[in-house]
Amino acid sequence: MKAADYVRPDRVLDTFLELVKMDSPSGQEAAIGQHLLAQFRQLGCSVDRDAAGNVFARLSGTGDETILLSSHMDTVGSDTGIKPVVRDGVVYSQGDTILGADDKSGIAVILEALRLLQEHPDWEHPPLEIVLSVSEEKGLLGAKQVDMSQLQADWGVILDAGGPIGSLTYSAPSQTFVDITVHGKKAHAGSSPEKGINAIRVAAEAITAMPLGRIDEETTANIGIIEGGEATNIVPDRVSMQGEARSRNEAKLAAQLQAMTAALETAAAEHGTTVDIELRPAFSSYLITPDQRPYMAASGAIQSLGLTFAPQMGGGGSDGNIYNAAGIPCVPLSTGMADVHTKDEHIAVQDMVDCARVIITLLTETF
Ligand SMILES: [Zn+2]
Repeated sequence: MKAADYVRPDRVLDTFLELVKMDSPSGQEAAIGQHLLAQFRQLGCSVDRDAAGNVFARLSGTGDETILLSSHMDTVGSDTGIKPVVRDGVVYSQGDTILGADDKSGIAVILEALRLLQEHPDWEHPPLEIVLSVSEEKGLLGAKQVDMSQLQADWGVILDAGGPIGSLTYSAPSQTFVDITVHGKKAHAGSSPEKGINAIRVAAEAITAMPLGRIDEETTANIGIIEGGEATNIVPDRVSMQGEARSRNEAKLAAQLQAMTAALETAAAEHGTTVDIELRPAFSSYLITPDQRPYMAASGAIQSLGLTFAPQMGGGGSDGNIYNAAGIPCVPLSTGMADVHTKDEHIAVQDMVDCARVIITLLTETF
């Protein structure tokens, strides 16, 4: 029998259901972190938690490559009291909350792999480093606080993606937030509008002139929030807007941010006013090529199990962006999570099982 054949679907499901029932919206991961520290300790790991609340577990092994396994403990939004229901082999919430398969499916997969290793001490495997982050959904805040000098991993996999099992995200874009304040000048809209500068008009002209949406196959941009104005009879003196730009190409990202900035400054200048623009880098892009270890190992494990290997480019960010930027090449793999960040979120038990089969294969065979 292959190592993958020892994965226990009942145990994967039980672990997942237990985790889903533990409340852990971003910022409230202390209890689940405590629970997981105890679990990892029982599984033979040395454990640690940093000031941010990120959980670390290390399992010794053989060979000179340490492998990172990563998931996040927080769930998106503020939903608590999640009650999972299983219908036809698929786990859903009761319909009034998210499920939290993002990313508790990843944690359940990691725990199953560690249990198998504990039950089969004769299986050789490399040293493992597990990092479970906090506040991933708040902009990778937990991973950003990890002391990278403490990590020993040579490469890794991020269990935090959707799609068919076998999907591997080999590249992801850089993202920069754009915080904008358009200044105008207040005046009475009825008696002396010519004394005012309408910040809403300036903002509108800037947005109209700005390239937004899908800029090219590597680049996107959006203005997502706009606020301003007080009353119909006041010429508004202030509009705040928040947007973002993403690209897998750093030069294109810089050009897009420049175009957004130029549109704002031109519109402001035409009305004799000013605009404040703050560009806040959220995370950096990465590209993992087929000759790099995480790609080779994951694609090898996936294909050895007869699953369809599906390399894809990502449009979002994950903790993988942070670890890649820190010099640990890693790729997000699908756990089967679907419709995440909605009340329809669900996951097939078989997908989690297949993901666990991929991981235990990756850890116990060489590709
Ligand atoms: Zn996630």
